[in-house]
Amino acid sequence: RAKETGKNGFQIFDEGMKHEVEEKLKIELGIRECLKNNGFELFFQPLYNTQAKRITQVEALLRVKSSALSAFNIMQIIQTAEVTGQIIDIDKWVIRSACESIQRINHYLDEPINISINISPLHIMQQDFVRNIRDIIIDTGVFPDWIELEITETSIMKSFEVNKRKLEELKRLGISIHLDDFGTGYSSLSYLNSLPIDHLKIDKSFIDAMLQSEKERKIVETIINLAHNIGLHVVAEGVEYEEQFDMLNSYNCELIQGYYISKPANFEYITRTIKQYNEEETVKI
Ligand code: C2E
Ligand code: MG
Ligand code: MG
Ligand code: MG
Repeated sequence: RAKETGKNGFQIFDEGMKHEVEEKLKIELGIRECLKNNGFELFFQPLYNTQAKRITQVEALLRVKSSALSAFNIMQIIQTAEVTGQIIDIDKWVIRSACESIQRINHYLDEPINISINISPLHIMQQDFVRNIRDIIIDTGVFPDWIELEITETSIMKSFEVNKRKLEELKRLGISIHLDDFGTGYSSLSYLNSLPIDHLKIDKSFIDAMLQSEKERKIVETIINLAHNIGLHVVAEGVEYEEQFDMLNSYNCELIQGYYISKPANFEYITRTIKQYNEEETVKI
């Protein structure tokens, strides 16, 4: 919002806008610095499988170790990176790092688990998206069955047919696909069936609302049944309370993610947590 127009016709910005532009620039420079000097790290959050009664997956979540971006949260950083285009380089770093991490994690486990990786809508739209992923898989030597990609509804709706074909190619490599934040985007049920997705992640807002009323619980139960009817597994994200866990369990929701199981944490902490859940023993790493 420009407050007034100056003599020469240029817009004079108010202080709020000036601040916003400065913040964006700080973030952009901070990202550049982090990409160059290894300033990012990954945290991992477990997904608990209610049928197998063990942790079968972790989600990789981007974090900053460098002081260059310490004043900002990860959502601000990712939003800015989407605007500047830096998200493509971030994505590539995240995918490579996640592939290396799951190899390290599985090295300590009796039974291997999978890792799910958030993919930016901008990255999916790039022509070399599939090739980037294939290259990283070959380079790291990771088993593609361990890799799951999280995409959002809005990110595939734009060029539906093209993106659908890209996802099919990835599936042929052995990778599986999660539809993230389900319920917050288009939520057009008709396209769900035609996309090569394996998991539907119910957004935290629905899981929060479950505590409020029977009607909200019915909505979640209905989404789970719908997903099952078309052959999808369901993940509930942002599960914080035992009450939510018990309800979701009774609706046969396969995967539970949230602080109730574990907060996102670094490699050492998460590997120990998984061993505790899956192998009932604590092992020093
Ligand atoms: P998301 O993919 O939906 O990730 C789940 C978010 O919910 C994470 O926030 C996680 O820390 C948080 N969460 C999980 N369980 C709970 C809970 O029980 N309570 C609460 N209050 N929060 C919970 P985070 O790490 O801040 O990430 C936010 C979003 O940023 C992600 O949402 C994802 O869209 C994006 N993001 C994170 N890492 C990456 C990345 O490596 N690449 C890309 N492209 N996007 C990322
Ligand atoms: Mg996600
Ligand atoms: Mg999510
Ligand atoms: Mg979410």
